[in-house]
Amino acid sequence: MKRLVILGAGESGVGTALLGKQKGYDVFVSDKQKIKEKYKQVLIHNEINWEEEGHTEATIFQADVVMKSPGIPDNILLIKQLKEKGIPIISEIEFAAQYTNAILIGITGSNGKTTTATWLHYLLAQGGLNVGLAGNIGDSFAGQVAKNNRDFFVLELSSFQLDGIVDFKPHIAVLTNISPDHLDRYNYNFEEYVASKFKIAENQTEEDYFIYDADDEVLVEWLKNHPIKSQKLPFSISKKIKNGASLESENIKITIDNNEFKMPTKILGLQGSHNVKNAMAASTVAKLLSIRKATIRECMENFQGVEHRLETVLKIQNVTYINDSKATNVNATFYALDSMTSPTVWIVGGVDKGNLYEELLPLVNEKVKAIICLGIDNKKIMDAFGNVVPIMIETESMQDAVNAAYRVAERGDTVLLSPACASFDLFENYEDRGRQFKESVRNL
Ligand code: ADP
Repeated sequence: MKRLVILGAGESGVGTALLGKQKGYDVFVSDKQKIKEKYKQVLIHNEINWEEEGHTEATIFQADVVMKSPGIPDNILLIKQLKEKGIPIISEIEFAAQYTNAILIGITGSNGKTTTATWLHYLLAQGGLNVGLAGNIGDSFAGQVAKNNRDFFVLELSSFQLDGIVDFKPHIAVLTNISPDHLDRYNYNFEEYVASKFKIAENQTEEDYFIYDADDEVLVEWLKNHPIKSQKLPFSISKKIKNGASLESENIKITIDNNEFKMPTKILGLQGSHNVKNAMAASTVAKLLSIRKATIRECMENFQGVEHRLETVLKIQNVTYINDSKATNVNATFYALDSMTSPTVWIVGGVDKGNLYEELLPLVNEKVKAIICLGIDNKKIMDAFGNVVPIMIETESMQDAVNAAYRVAERGDTVLLSPACASFDLFENYEDRGRQFKESVRNL
């Protein structure tokens, strides 16, 4: 019997344990922290061996293969030791993909993964396909393969999940964009981070497809120097595209093998030029999988978006409150500000991952009438925008921030929470931040 050791007993770890057990492995799960009760119950119920609050090296080193959860960095001692011993370390995606014949659609990128993956899943499900949504989102891929195998899977893939692949090959890969993020895990080397994203295409062949943002200079440059085998279907909102998606007088035009499909951008259920791109990516995949044009149009129109991504909360005294708590980097906030159509009171701040705010200056100058800083250390934001924005207010709680925004906003304005920063100075995570925002708005 082969021994499978799983490091990390979260969603992907426990899913892998279930699948491993089903496929006849001797499974052992080890977590450095306390395991969440709901996952512990699953392990106990399925008679899977586990430990918590520490790793027993003697047991772990007996593994034939190790599945490392994406949250565990590569540079810790235990991982180095496993590598020295030549024990293969893979990700949940690699492990689970061996056990399904489903057609896999992988979606990665710095921003837009969840939106594009959710939109695409909705589209394919409405188109009548037996399709699952997994990866960095909802129930784990491995757990779904164990319980409920599908004909298709839409997989949201983080760079950490891609780092642990060997043979994984999506038939269709989508790379939404690349901007600096998570560099702490890549030796502060942008090239390493880009390379990790491109692993999504490394096992693809001429029969596979690669869909990407042709407006993204980093992507285009990388492709020039690192050719891939799969068929490229770029999308762009500024360039003419022969094979792929582009804009033609307010229409999205998708061309695949001389077959053309058009739909007006104004029907899209989600606002903002970034969502035109997400729509292009999702519709190109749908066209490749022969979803009917009428279904694509309907789904482009009816999709409501995902919580915490430019989510409209309420209108109070004709001021619209928008929750974009998931904007944890400058690029995401760039698109949020870009999509604002009225004077904006902008709530920003938190834990900065080395942000360069300069690229926001033109948009801020044009659209932002007041900045409400929400964070423990707001110096960089004060320095970057103090000269351009007349009203700058510092706050340290969500309710104070929302109250301050309420005081300065006038009829017709928008209050936008789009922090451009991580949340853990004042909140548990971005979901907690977004929920507190909505709660505070409802309390007004
Ligand atoms: P991810 O899963 O990659 O983090 P999300 O879909 O959750 O992406 O969106 C994260 C943030 O990025 C949100 O603030 C959202 O409005 C913004 N965003 C969504 N799509 C894009 C895109 N194509 N380019 C840039 N920003 C985007």
